[in-house]
Amino acid sequence: MTYLKSFSIQEKNLSLPIYFPDATRGVIRSLDSQDLQKSKVEGVVVNSFHLMSKPGQSVIKSLGGIKRFMNWNGLIVSDSGGFQLLSLVYENSSFGKIDDEGITFYRDSKGKKGRHILTPERSIQIQFNIGADIMICLDDCPSVKATYEDHEKSVRRTIKWAERSKDEYKKQILNKKLLNPPLIFAVIHGGDNKELREKCAKELIKIGFHGYCFGGWPLNSNGEINYDILSWTASLMPDDLPKFALGVGNPKAIADCVKIGYNIFDCVLPTRDARHKRLYVFAKDPKEIDIFNEEKITEFIYISDEKYVRDPKPVSQYCDCYTCCNYSKSYLNHLFEIEDPLSWRLATIHNLRTYTKLIEILRENV
Ligand SMILES: [Zn+2]
Repeated sequence: MTYLKSFSIQEKNLSLPIYFPDATRGVIRSLDSQDLQKSKVEGVVVNSFHLMSKPGQSVIKSLGGIKRFMNWNGLIVSDSGGFQLLSLVYENSSFGKIDDEGITFYRDSKGKKGRHILTPERSIQIQFNIGADIMICLDDCPSVKATYEDHEKSVRRTIKWAERSKDEYKKQILNKKLLNPPLIFAVIHGGDNKELREKCAKELIKIGFHGYCFGGWPLNSNGEINYDILSWTASLMPDDLPKFALGVGNPKAIADCVKIGYNIFDCVLPTRDARHKRLYVFAKDPKEIDIFNEEKITEFIYISDEKYVRDPKPVSQYCDCYTCCNYSKSYLNHLFEIEDPLSWRLATIHNLRTYTKLIEILRENV
């Protein structure tokens, strides 16, 4: 395998691997675009279904697209929303239903009653209206409890939906006369079954996409990365195109996935953990990290711990983030204690910078 070290999108060249935090509703909670830039974040993932219900795609379109709306110069990846939505529908049929045509929701993402239909075509139209740089085909993502038959059905449907998404994508480019169109990625399903994964990958590659994603649950029953099926699926993807490990993961999981060929990551962990007072710090000087062989790359600082009440040091001595350059653990501990919103912002900036630093180390080592 040759590791893909860069790819170009709309005349911009991007280094790989790359990590995109999840700005599901068009915001990383408590951060603005300047904070993201300072944390060296190069792109974010937004969720087209959530944006479709609030503020609505027509609002975003009328304001010149999501980038202008957010005042964000970086990359926008739009997720079709399949993962979260289908898990809701598969868990609770009062939320909606799925058939070959698409997904019908009986309520919006806030739980308010109302019928929304999301078809593969509509998902692509929304992603064009939002103004994404990378769009992802609507896929049938089965639940964690899915049987072999469920996975078989998901693969069949995912291929069909990918075909329809690609047709709609071509139609939109023609209609809009786009010279630098966004890229379109497809999602490979098949659960833990290698034959199904292979069948899905082959058919999607035949249709032809700019990149391929690992779809479905990436963890095994012990809560660890399912290395076997992740590496099998990566081996089925073309080496000269980006390989996106959707939803992966903690720093160790990202390093492991880079080793087997993945080069795009999105994950809610650093931003969510920050709000829950869990701060990522490198276990040792990042200059000395043997990134692909380290047992432990990062560890947690639980910032609300008593021992930080009088700690004048920054969160990490190895970190160059805005938070570590300006504030102590003691101050952060105090902000969380009094539940001031600044605590979320400073903690999130630090965790994101730790992830982008991890990416810098990985780039030096691939
Ligand atoms: Zn920091």
